[in-house]
Amino acid sequence: MSKHTALLSSWIDSSKVISTISHARPDGDAAGCSAAMVCYLQECRGKDAAAILPDPLPDNVSFLSDGVNILTDKSGVAARLARTDLLICLDFNTLSRVEGLEDIVRAFPGPKVLIDHHEAPAVQDFDLCFSETRISSACELLYRVLMGMPDIESDAHKLPKRTARALMTGMTTDTNNFANSVYPGTLAMASELLGAGVDRDDIIDKLYHSDRPARLAAMGDLLSNRMKLIPGGGAMCVLPQSFYDTHGLQDGETEGFVNLPLSLKDVRLSILAREDGDVFRISIRSKRGTSARSLAMSHFHGGGHEQASGGKIFIPADIASPSEAEDYVRRITARFLQEHPAVNQ
Ligand code: 5GP
Ligand code: MN
Repeated sequence: MSKHTALLSSWIDSSKVISTISHARPDGDAAGCSAAMVCYLQECRGKDAAAILPDPLPDNVSFLSDGVNILTDKSGVAARLARTDLLICLDFNTLSRVEGLEDIVRAFPGPKVLIDHHEAPAVQDFDLCFSETRISSACELLYRVLMGMPDIESDAHKLPKRTARALMTGMTTDTNNFANSVYPGTLAMASELLGAGVDRDDIIDKLYHSDRPARLAAMGDLLSNRMKLIPGGGAMCVLPQSFYDTHGLQDGETEGFVNLPLSLKDVRLSILAREDGDVFRISIRSKRGTSARSLAMSHFHGGGHEQASGGKIFIPADIASPSEAEDYVRRITARFLQEHPAVNQ
C-alpha cells in the first residue's frame, strides 16, 4: 500500500462521519466517484457517508444515486459539514469549481483529501492529494486508491457492487465510451470490473440508449442549422435559451453535442456555447495536437483537460448582450486557430 493510501485509510478509520464533494453541474465522472466512494465507506468501512454536490445529478446518471445520501441545498450542506470529520474532494482541481459552496468548503476545519485528474491542482488547499493527469478519469484514480486499501487487497471482487458499477460508469462517460483518454490502466480497470460482475450492457443502456425523442430532434436541428465552420479547422454551435425552450430540453440533454463536429475530418476544435442566465457556458473539445485547454484558459475564464475543457462568457464583462455571443466565439476561435496550427504528435 502506498504511503498516501495508508494515510487516507488511517484517516478513514479515525473518522465517524465522512462526506465527499464534487464539482458544479456534475457529470458522469463526478457522480460516479461520489457514489463509488460513499458506497465503499458505508459498506466496507461502516461509516456515516454522504455525497455533497453543488447541483443535482443529470437524468442519465441519476441511477447512481440509488441508496446514496446526496445533499445539494446549501443549508443541508452546511449542517452536514458541521458534523463531518473528513471531507473527500473528487474530480476538481480548485475549490472554485464547487461554485456556490466554495465559502463553506473553505471554512471546513477538518482534513480535506483531493482525488483528481486535472492539471495543476491547488495543492495548498488540501491536506492530502492524489493527483494524476495521465489517466482517464477521477473514477479510474479512485479505483486505484480503493484497490490499494487494506480491505480490498487489489481484488475488484471485494468492492461493493454499487461502487464497481459507479466506477465503470464514470470512466465510461469521461472517456466518451472509450474514445478519448484511454490508457493501459483504463482497459485493465474495465477488464477487472467486468470480471467482478459489473453489468456494462446495462450501464450503456442507461447512459446512451435512454434519450427522449426531443434530444435527437435537437441534435438534428443543431447539426443542420446551428453548426458553423470556422476557417482553420474549427466548428462552433451557439445555443440561445430559445433553443432549449423550442425543443423542450433540459440543460443536461445537450451533453455530448460538442463532440459531434469532431467527426468531420477537417475539424480539429469544436466549441459549444449555451446561454444560461447572465453567462454563456462554454464546452470545448479538440483533436490531439490542438489544445482545448489553452483556448479555455486564455479566452473563456476556464480550464480543464488538454482535449476537453470548459469556461464561460460573462455578460456584460465580455459581451454587451447575448446576441453578440456568436460573433465573439467566431472571432476568438478563428484567431486562436490561426495562431495555433495543429501540432503533429
Ligand atoms: P464540459 O464541457 O463537459 O462542461 O467540461 C469539460 C471539462 O472542462 C470538465 O471536465 C472540466 O475539467 C472543465 N471545465 C468545464 N467548465 C469549466 C469551468 O468553468 N472552469 C474550469 N476551470 N474548467 C471547466
Ligand atoms: Mn473527470
